[in-house]
Amino acid sequence: MRTYHIFYILIVSTAEYNLQAPTVLRQGLSDIRLPYNIMNINSRKAVKTCRMEIIRFSDEMKKRFGGKVYRIPLSSGCTCPNRDGTVGIGGCAFCSAQGAGEFSFPDIPVREQFEYGKKLISGKTKADKFIGYFQSFTNTYGDQDRLKAMFRETIEIPEVCALSVATRPDCLEEGMVDYLAWLSDIKPVWVELGLQTSNDATGERMNRCFGRETFEKAYGRLKRAGLEVIIHIILGLPGEDREDMLETGRYVSALSPEIDGIKIHMLQVLKGTTLAKQYLNEPFHILTLEEYTEIVISILSMLPAHTVVHRFTGDGAKNLLIEPRWSWEKKKVLNYMNGRISKA
Ligand code: SF4
Repeated sequence: MRTYHIFYILIVSTAEYNLQAPTVLRQGLSDIRLPYNIMNINSRKAVKTCRMEIIRFSDEMKKRFGGKVYRIPLSSGCTCPNRDGTVGIGGCAFCSAQGAGEFSFPDIPVREQFEYGKKLISGKTKADKFIGYFQSFTNTYGDQDRLKAMFRETIEIPEVCALSVATRPDCLEEGMVDYLAWLSDIKPVWVELGLQTSNDATGERMNRCFGRETFEKAYGRLKRAGLEVIIHIILGLPGEDREDMLETGRYVSALSPEIDGIKIHMLQVLKGTTLAKQYLNEPFHILTLEEYTEIVISILSMLPAHTVVHRFTGDGAKNLLIEPRWSWEKKKVLNYMNGRISKA
């Protein structure tokens, strides 16, 4: 683990609006018709008048786990079906060779990975509670028994207070969902689903290789199993304008049951990715910090009140980052965004 920039302040946004998912979403998620009240809150006026209660990550985690909590990125040794030819080749256009996990450890036994991460963190803080975070690639793809054993080993580490597993919605076998639900009786289990955009045409352009329908089925199964789901979205994908990004915000805000958590990422153009090639051949618009922040605030204002916002910036490795250059100055970005959010 080279750096711990990923340990951002988390905020929980609370909107003063009562956003109930429309009936059609309870009946079936594939045909989204947003209710008028959700449409209304996306106007700039609504953002200005919306009160958002900002809760620091440390406070929220303290409330839940009784102390300061850090994520330790762990590698499951999985690859991704969108890379090995099972559903696609080359992966999502924005995904780096590290499989969206630039800060993962080398592939060593999970307990050793954990101890290594703990040592690094403990050298800087007095942390004694951690989230075992399987971040890179698709962590439910591969030998199911091996993965189950790895998840169990992780959750049984005394200092681990929660298990977080990042995956694709098309890689959730029933047995795995049941197993994760069973583990969640021991300690909380979070499943992180990379949706990125609710727009299937963009998804196709980005070679995401799954559609909304697949996402909705997986989301429904996870929620029915009683698991907490954190959804990842990306703002600034090429071809999407502000309205497209807000539509993704509306979509995840209207899911039923309501989402537990969200990670909002700025699009990062990383060296070696398909997107980098596209960008260098034909540059597309990169959101400015001001534009990005304004859209983030709009999305925060429409989320269900209890949604934990796990992140609202990106976290690509500096040595790979082509754009946005402003994201290099992480402290400055967080100060600016926190300042804007506090006034929203
Ligand atoms: S699904 Fe995830 S790991 Fe696989 S290519 Fe896309 S971003 Fe990368």
